[in-house]
Amino acid sequence: MNKCAEGIYIVGRYGNPLCATWLFENNGECAIVEMPPFFKRKGRPIEIIKETIHKKGLKGPKYILSSHAHIDHTYSIFHYKKAFPGAKLIGHSSFLNDYFIKSFFYMYWTKNKRIYGQDIANKMGLFDEVFTTDLYQLILGKEPLYLIYAPKHSYEDIMIVFKGAMITGDWAIGPYPDCNDIVSSHDKIQSIDKLIYILREKNYKVHMLFSAHGDNLIYNVDFEAVMKETRDFCARINNTHHDYQW
Ligand SMILES: [Zn+2]
Repeated sequence: MNKCAEGIYIVGRYGNPLCATWLFENNGECAIVEMPPFFKRKGRPIEIIKETIHKKGLKGPKYILSSHAHIDHTYSIFHYKKAFPGAKLIGHSSFLNDYFIKSFFYMYWTKNKRIYGQDIANKMGLFDEVFTTDLYQLILGKEPLYLIYAPKHSYEDIMIVFKGAMITGDWAIGPYPDCNDIVSSHDKIQSIDKLIYILREKNYKVHMLFSAHGDNLIYNVDFEAVMKETRDFCARINNTHHDYQW
């Protein structure tokens, strides 16, 4: 368990590539972010979370969240749901697109049906709560926890904002290319503009940017300046490939 900021911890980093499981905590309530694959022998994120909850005297996790639907962030979804039945698994409607349903949930639902039986598999089904809006507000111990739908790395990207930090999923931040070519430059730019707009409207100051994988923790950020730099880079790429956009 690694403290990154007040109320924000990395439980550990798991899978290949390594992705963090995060624990958010405020006023006795907590939430889990990201469910990478893990081996029981190594690290035991669920046990670490349970021990921490016990030690700190917290209530069981209120929410289980994920920055996007890719398997290195969601593989252990059923393990977490089973370990924390009182927690609400929350996803965006984009998580239920064809790609995700066909490739991930169907496969894991089938696997769980085999392991746990149909009844439990049904209950473990999909999300407890699905939002369709760009902005979704949760509350953790009286502190707002914002989920903002903002595709850049994938069309299921959710920025998770808590206590002045933004978990930026697998976004490339700054003048760097994203690691894939899934989202069009136009949509990336729209997402960046949306983040700036929403946070301005809320008068909310993000000053930390944490990659979901937990390998890039940026403190004391001028959020709008970094976002503008990121946006400019996307716009340049857009110009280069303008003729080939569909
Ligand atoms: Zn990832």
